[in-house]
Amino acid sequence: MSKNIVIIGAGVAGVNAATKLVDNDFDGKITIIDMGKDPYLRPYEEVMTGYLGAGGWSDGKLTYSTQIGGQLSKYVGDEKAMELMKQVVDNFTRFHPHPEQIILSSPDKEPEFIKPYFGLRLFPVWHIGTDYLHEIGKSWYDYLVSKGVDFIWETKVTDIDFENQIVYYEDGFESLIEGLIYDKLIFGVGKSGIDFTSDIMKQYELPTEEKPAQVGVRFEAPQKHFQKLIDVAYDFKLYRKDDKVSLRSFCTNNNAAYVAVEETYGDHSYNGHAKKDESFRNDMTNFGILMEIKGIDQPFKWARELVGKVQENSTGLFYSPTREPSTTSEGIDVSATKIDDLDVVKDAFQGYYSYIEDFIDDMKKVFPTLKDDWGIYVPEVKYLAPEPLVNYEDLSLTKYPNVHFVGDALSARGISVSGAHGTFVAEKILEG
Ligand SMILES: Cc1cc2nc3c(=O)[nH]c(=O)nc-3n(C[C@H](O)[C@H](O)[C@H](O)COP(=O)(O)OP(=O)(O)OC[C@H]3O[C@@H](n4cnc5c(N)ncnc54)[C@H](O)[C@@H]3O)c2cc1C
Repeated sequence: MSKNIVIIGAGVAGVNAATKLVDNDFDGKITIIDMGKDPYLRPYEEVMTGYLGAGGWSDGKLTYSTQIGGQLSKYVGDEKAMELMKQVVDNFTRFHPHPEQIILSSPDKEPEFIKPYFGLRLFPVWHIGTDYLHEIGKSWYDYLVSKGVDFIWETKVTDIDFENQIVYYEDGFESLIEGLIYDKLIFGVGKSGIDFTSDIMKQYELPTEEKPAQVGVRFEAPQKHFQKLIDVAYDFKLYRKDDKVSLRSFCTNNNAAYVAVEETYGDHSYNGHAKKDESFRNDMTNFGILMEIKGIDQPFKWARELVGKVQENSTGLFYSPTREPSTTSEGIDVSATKIDDLDVVKDAFQGYYSYIEDFIDDMKKVFPTLKDDWGIYVPEVKYLAPEPLVNYEDLSLTKYPNVHFVGDALSARGISVSGAHGTFVAEKILEG
C-alpha cells in the first residue's frame, strides 16, 4: 500500500479523501497543502480558499442525484455514484453540531402549474446553510488533526514534478520554494486553482476532453413570488432544452438568500448562498439561469471572452426593470455595475441571451405576481475547463497513474460529487 499521500487542496474533495483514509485506519502519512486558512482563521471574505474550499463558505446544498453536478456516473456507474455521495452527506451530518436541523427537500412529482413551460428535476437535496458549515468545518478539521493528518496552510503549490513525484510549494513566510515527495498525489485544487490546473495540463501535455460552455445570469427576486414552488422543492431545478441549448435554474437560495461575487481569472461572476440563522432572513430568492450550448467552437475560450465583455468598472453587471442591487449578508452592496438596458449583455451572449429572456418571460406566466419585480446579475458562469483524461477505475491520470484528479479539477461542479471523487480515490488507495 502507498504510504505517503499528498493532497493538494483542503477542499471538499481533499477533505473527504483524507476522512475515508483515516476512518479506515490508513497507516501511511497524509499531508494536505492549501493556500487558504484553517477553519478557525478563515475570514468571511475568503470565499474560495481554506478548509473545505469553496464548499466551506457555500450554501451547503448537498444534492443527491446523478442527473446533475458533473459526471460521476460516467466513471463509477449510477449505483456506486449514489453510494459515494451518501458517504459525503453522512460526513457533513456527522460533524454537524445540530444534525436534526438539516433540511431535506425531496420532491416526488412535477407540479402541474409549471407545465407546459418548464420541467422540474426530482431528487433529494439536503440543505446545511453557510453558518453551520463553519462549525462543521472546525469539528471535522479537529477530527482529521487528531487522526494525524498534517495540514500545511497558507501555502501555494507552484509546481509538480510528476516524473520524480515531488510537489513544490512557496513557503508563505520566507518565499522559499520547498519540495514534498509523494507516493500518491491527490490533486483537488478546485475552481480557485483553475489557472494552476491548466498550466500543469499544458506543461505535461495531458490529453483532455473539451467541455460545453455553461453561462447565464444570477436571477434574484422576493421569495413570495416563488413560494408555491419552494413548498414543493427548496432547491428547485426548472429546466428545458432544444437541440442546441439546454437551460436550467441552478443553486436556488431562499429565506436568507444572498448573491455572492466569485472571482475567476480576475473577472467577476455571480453565485449565491443562504444563511440558516433567522437574524439574516431577507425573504429573497436567488438562483442561476444557466445555459449549456452545444456546438460552440472552443467553448472554454468562448465563455471566458463572454465573461470579459460583461465587466464594467472591474465588476459584473446588474439589470432590473424596477429593483436595485442587494446587499451581502454583511450589509455591503453586492459589487455590480447597474445598467439601464441589456444591449451590452445581448452583444456578449451573441444571440443566446434570447433563451434567458424567454425563460424569464415564461417564469412571469408561471409565477403571475413576479411581473417586473426581479433583477439579474451578469454573468454567472461554470467554467468547464477541458477535463484531463483519467483512468475510470481510480481517477488517475492516464499518463501518471499515481496522480489522481478529484473535485472541480475534474469538472465535478458541486459538493457531493466533489466529495464523492475524493472518497472514491481513497477507497482505491485503501485497496492498495
Ligand atoms: C459561493 C459558492 C456557493 C456554492 N454553493 C454550492 C452548494 O450549495 N452546493 C454545491 O453542491 N456546490 C456549491 N458550490 C460549488 C462547490 O463549493 C464546489 O463544487 C466544491 O467546493 C468543489 O470542491 P473541490 O474540493 O474540488 O474544490 P474546492 O472546494 O474549491 O477546494 C479547492 C482548495 O484548493 C486550494 N488550492 C487551489 N489552488 C491551490 C494551490 N496552487 N496550492 C494550494 N492550495 C490550492 C484552495 O485554497 C481550496 O481550498 C458553491 C461554490 C461557491 C463559490
